[in-house]
Amino acid sequence: MIDFRSDTFTRPTPGMLQAMITAETGDDVFGEDPSVNKLEARMADYFGKAAALYCPSGTMSNQIAIKVHTQPGDEVVCSDLAHVYIYEGGGIAFNAGAQTRPIAGDRGMITAAQVKAAINPDDVHKARTSLVCLENTSNRGGGCIYDWQEIEKIAAVCREHELALHLDGARLFNALVATGQDPKAYGKTFDTISVCLNKGMGCPMGSVLLGSETFIKAARRIRKKLGGGLRQAGFMAATGLYALENHINRLAEDHAHARQIADVLNTKSFVSNMLPVETNILIFDVSGSYTPATFVEALQKEGILVVAISPTQIRIVTHLDITPDMVAKTCQVIAAL
Ligand SMILES: *Cc1c(COP(=O)(O)O)cnc(C)c1O
Repeated sequence: MIDFRSDTFTRPTPGMLQAMITAETGDDVFGEDPSVNKLEARMADYFGKAAALYCPSGTMSNQIAIKVHTQPGDEVVCSDLAHVYIYEGGGIAFNAGAQTRPIAGDRGMITAAQVKAAINPDDVHKARTSLVCLENTSNRGGGCIYDWQEIEKIAAVCREHELALHLDGARLFNALVATGQDPKAYGKTFDTISVCLNKGMGCPMGSVLLGSETFIKAARRIRKKLGGGLRQAGFMAATGLYALENHINRLAEDHAHARQIADVLNTKSFVSNMLPVETNILIFDVSGSYTPATFVEALQKEGILVVAISPTQIRIVTHLDITPDMVAKTCQVIAAL
């Protein structure tokens, strides 16, 4: 099967498996796993942050960050398409007891003016606005990349109003490879960042949360409370160390593959409203000779898996396990539809 459903379907490469079985490990709840400590130090250094925390999933990293940044009853400003709002099981309410102020942005990206307008006044009727969450790349926005100037403007609004600024950087490496930006600019601008290792980086699991020493100390306590303190996590952290060495620059291939498939799709009358293809995600409408359901079926018959993400939309995600041959075959199959 050629699996385009998500970049989470990757299998560890032989090199990654080798890194796992030869990993030095210890008990990470005691802070004694050398591979986890090394991964945390490398990631902190890479993004220019003081400290890092290895977490089982991106959802847990985000939820821990939100919990540490807020008090129950506070309000979190984010896009109405944000993963933290629509895909984390209501976790903001469940874990932090905070509420969300979802903003209709452009493909999941919000502006500094929108953030400023969403900040509640100091009034007992109103929830206290304490945190802004951005997502880069934006998953539901078709892997789009924030305009850096806008991010800096949002950061300035947050500083002015003493709000924390968190980045859901599940696919931040995709944005960095596509733009050639310095990762340390992100570390400087955001108070905290969560970065997934289980997406484009090709690891079986894991995410790293980045922040100040004080923040990470608090985050470590929350991770324990959520049951996310793992023992010999180094076997998994080793996959992250391997990916940092081997899987960052190759993301450009995934982006090129996505554009190749988009070019063929765009010649088809049943495809419309394709979101601009900036990284490794394609989102488009299917109508006319196919519905999203019959399109999924037609590709499945050819051994190609894609996913319908709404009654009108299909999503295709390229990743480490998609080879040039698979892309060529997919383009052929689509061209023949
Ligand atoms: C995948 C993803 C996450 C976290 O997902 P996990 O499966 O919990 O690791 C967070 N944010 C975005 C935007 C994502 O795409």
